[in-house]
Amino acid sequence: MEQQPGRKLSRREQARLEDFQRLSGQMRQQGYRRVDLVVDVVQANVMAVVVMLPFLAAAAVLFFALNPVGEVYIPFSGMALWLLAFLVLVVLHEAIHGLTWGLMAPHGFKAIAFGVIWQMLTPYCTCNDGLKRWQYLLGGLMPTLILGFGLAGLATAQGSLWLFSLAEVMILGGGGDFLVVFKMLRHPQKDGAVYYDHPYECGMVVFEPENGNVPAA
Ligand SMILES: [Zn+2]
Repeated sequence: MEQQPGRKLSRREQARLEDFQRLSGQMRQQGYRRVDLVVDVVQANVMAVVVMLPFLAAAAVLFFALNPVGEVYIPFSGMALWLLAFLVLVVLHEAIHGLTWGLMAPHGFKAIAFGVIWQMLTPYCTCNDGLKRWQYLLGGLMPTLILGFGLAGLATAQGSLWLFSLAEVMILGGGGDFLVVFKMLRHPQKDGAVYYDHPYECGMVVFEPENGNVPAA
């Protein structure tokens, strides 16, 4: 049975949920078992910090080892610019999810949708197509790889603390994605499994062939 959403869904989320319920029914008829791998959003916020802490620390150790920083003075205009850059990066983060999944999804970019969960001020990107395991993983990790670790590398090479602080925040922001990926990696892999983004939760749904038999397409 479909679990009741813990919050009021937007009209588009509701439509996605109904499409997904239809899909679930079809997949079951074709002999697939449904496994939901989702993370609770409130719990995810705490766990995201814990999970990303080693990455944040490693990046900081590297940055400060190569760029000893003396006095730090940040003018107000710098803060405004920082905030603006942060907002741009947040949008870019979602765009990179969409770009990566869109390039691999059977229906291409038609399968990609963006939105904002206003109650939690959380922007999201979702893919309506079924993906292979490595495709889902790659699309899930790509924004943090580029805007977190990539940007941290650039900031370290440039010796820019301003840029580095943005990179650290983007690494932290990848916590939810990493939690979903860890959850997925812990789940035993099955031949013929299809991976879908969850229609409205933070996480995904795997459809795996019952008894290990790959159903005829
Ligand atoms: Zn993300």
